[in-house]
Amino acid sequence: MSIVIALDGPAGSGKSTISKLVAENLGIEYIDTGAMYRSVAYYCVNNGIDYLNEEMVEANLDYVDIDFINGDVYLNGEDVESKVHTEEIGIVVPKVAAYKEVRSKITDICRELAKGKSLIMDGRDIGIHVLKDEATLKIYLTASAEERANRRLKEFKNVSFEDVLNEINERDYQDMHREISPLKKADDAIEIDSTDMSIESVVDFIERMAYGKDN
Ligand code: C5P
Repeated sequence: MSIVIALDGPAGSGKSTISKLVAENLGIEYIDTGAMYRSVAYYCVNNGIDYLNEEMVEANLDYVDIDFINGDVYLNGEDVESKVHTEEIGIVVPKVAAYKEVRSKITDICRELAKGKSLIMDGRDIGIHVLKDEATLKIYLTASAEERANRRLKEFKNVSFEDVLNEINERDYQDMHREISPLKKADDAIEIDSTDMSIESVVDFIERMAYGKDN
């Protein structure tokens, strides 16, 4: 039985933590599409490319080679997994993720990686766009902004609650209001509000749904 789970949701909703556990328990692959958009942002920052200039970013896309191997994102052959998950990249990424050519490039990579596999893929537009027809289960995972900021605080050092909350709210606003593939729940997705749920209970719920059991 092929399992293709599309997991979307706002920043800090726990998508990657949950996806890794579900993938491990079900023996399926995990693909983190956010890490790919982050790699484009990282490339721009590292190479002095003005990320607010869409034309300039798009002119450089041919030099950006992204892959996802054993749960880590690779940029031009280098494992950049830890380098892209920073506050700085979190501020830049929604800008480049709004650009048409960037979205089209990453979508192609994601679809290629997903071909013929059982997997869980997380992001913002997986259920509505990337795996719209292929997904056997669509989940929209959310939590209150305050709870998401608190979770993020545990990952980052030397940042205040207010700064993290602002970054989350700002990123969500940009992701939800961009022209192409804005973040939204697919009509056929199941919404999970994890504000008061443990990680284990969310994982358990998704695993049961993946096998078509709703109790
Ligand atoms: O999931 P993560 O927080 O790492 O995603 C970083 C950013 O990448 C998001 O805020 C969004 O701007 C962009 N993204 C996207 N579409 C996806 C995945 C991520 O636009 N499918």
